[in-house]
Amino acid sequence: MDDSQEVLLMLGNEAIARGAIEGGVQVATAYPGTPSTEIVETLASLAKDYDLYVEWSVNEKVAFEVALAASYCELRALTAMKHVGLNVASDTLFTAAYTGVRGGFVVVSADDPNCHSSQNEQDNRIYGLHAYVPVIEPSSPQEAKDMVTYALDISEHHKVPIILRTTTRLSHVRGPVKLNPVRRPKKVGSFIKAPERLVCLPANARRMRLEAISRLKNVEETFNHSSFNLVKGSSRIGVIACGLAYAYAVEALERLQDHHNVSILKLSTVYPIPRKLLNDFLKDKEKVLIIEELEPFIELQVKALCHELNLEVEIHGKDLIPLAGELTPQAVFKGIASILGVKVELPKNIELKSQAPPRPPILCAGCPHRNTFYAIKLAVRKKNVEAIYPSDIGCYTLGYYPPLEVVDTTLCMGAGVGLSCGLAKFSGKIVIATVGESTFFHACIPALINSVFNPSNFILIVLDNSFTAMTGHQPSPVTGMNAMGQKVKPVLPEDIAKACGIEFCKVVDPYDLDATTSSIAEAIDYIKRGLGPAVIIARRECSLILLRKHRSGIIKLIRRRVDPELCKGCLACIKLVGCPALIPRSGKVVIEEEMCSGCGLCERACPHKAIGLVE
Ligand code: SF4
Ligand code: SF4
Repeated sequence: MDDSQEVLLMLGNEAIARGAIEGGVQVATAYPGTPSTEIVETLASLAKDYDLYVEWSVNEKVAFEVALAASYCELRALTAMKHVGLNVASDTLFTAAYTGVRGGFVVVSADDPNCHSSQNEQDNRIYGLHAYVPVIEPSSPQEAKDMVTYALDISEHHKVPIILRTTTRLSHVRGPVKLNPVRRPKKVGSFIKAPERLVCLPANARRMRLEAISRLKNVEETFNHSSFNLVKGSSRIGVIACGLAYAYAVEALERLQDHHNVSILKLSTVYPIPRKLLNDFLKDKEKVLIIEELEPFIELQVKALCHELNLEVEIHGKDLIPLAGELTPQAVFKGIASILGVKVELPKNIELKSQAPPRPPILCAGCPHRNTFYAIKLAVRKKNVEAIYPSDIGCYTLGYYPPLEVVDTTLCMGAGVGLSCGLAKFSGKIVIATVGESTFFHACIPALINSVFNPSNFILIVLDNSFTAMTGHQPSPVTGMNAMGQKVKPVLPEDIAKACGIEFCKVVDPYDLDATTSSIAEAIDYIKRGLGPAVIIARRECSLILLRKHRSGIIKLIRRRVDPELCKGCLACIKLVGCPALIPRSGKVVIEEEMCSGCGLCERACPHKAIGLVE
């Protein structure tokens, strides 16, 4: 990223990273989570150039607290997380609104309408309302960049944390972004003791709640004059839109301009709403449509304001705009046409001439944990037991799909181990939980301690591939390297498990299918005897990293191939293993060499011994 005033094509998340640098952020933290990951990934890659401190923290609460500490030390800080990550950090968020901040402090919440890569849809603007924290919402990558700087200034001026809310579409859309010069404060952190503000004892907290409310009033006054809010037109029919919905509304109004005149208010400062600005917009309106993604967040505030100010405006919102899922230009067009009472031909969805063929989501070829899941099935069969499989958030959740089908529950980070504590006690079945090592560090350790403290007999298999793989291979505490590329001491899940009091703790290599299967079988015997929880660490580097190392000559992988003479085309290999490197071709199966990591699982599955090592 250049410092000069040029225009670059940027992802929304890259623009946010650039905004942080232009705004003088010195500390940035996150736990990786789609759709927010690229913000801190970009900042990590620029850490040296701009003298930033950047970290992948073990979870969002820790990320929030590290960045907040920087702000308490008068440094500008940013923490970024996906919407569900803010649930994890919310405990600290609510109290941070009371303590206030010193250096500008921005919390980026990247929401995921339509659950593209998440377990739920949630509208995190509501956190602002609940926690007394201002919320702003950009509608383009350019605004995303500029609004980070704006948020840092407002935050520092009013001493409040600020939520910058984006959605998947904005995080991942590319758009032209005009750069501004970078502020390089090079400030040294300084902490001033203020226990009356930072120690949230009840007596202090009661006072600070009132301070938080009054800070919000001051922010509202600033928001009334924000240049990110914009009014166009003077028709008695109006539209209020925020975030990407504004871009969709502009597009729809351009299509309808020959028919009708509509005035539009782009609202970027969504909490607290700028009441004076809204009053000026609403007072001469007959009816107004509020267009926003997910919850009726603006709609409810505007309805309350109309009631309070006795404004007789007909307010529409979620009666005409969908409440669930991602907004589309078509849905917005339909909503606006309907408030105007015009019959219009709806634009069709854009159809691409050539599209990638639809494929079910599947574990990568050679994923070591396809082998682990397969070994679980073999061990359960060998021991002839009925098992329940709680799991967690990560690429291994794909073990839910056939042919593996070894994921029975996935709720949120760490819930698999907590559920196992209960399921092992109440279901009467063998419980085998799986979790990636990054999620283990993020949220599983308290539940693991609970399984010793309130004895529960289940098996926890930590699927360790030495990276937070799903979000793009960010280092995890096992990797031995941090976000800024420093070599650090690896933290091993087996050491943690032993420290939690787990007595059955083994480390296996999932490519060694026999050893993995017999360790799981042994653990089944152990928990059947009621000897306590058992932990197995299945450790093998992510296959994508293995292939990368192989291609660059760092390691040499052994490969497998199918002997066409011996292959009967029965497809048992595909049906049992489901590895995408196995391709049916001309009545037989071939192995796609570029994808194969040589794990050997398909060789085990072939009943005709048609798969063997490449000599
Ligand atoms: S050896 Fe077989 S199962 Fe393993 S990656 Fe190659 S094709 Fe897939
Ligand atoms: S299981 Fe063996 S014989 Fe059957 S299709 Fe696969 S490679 Fe061929």
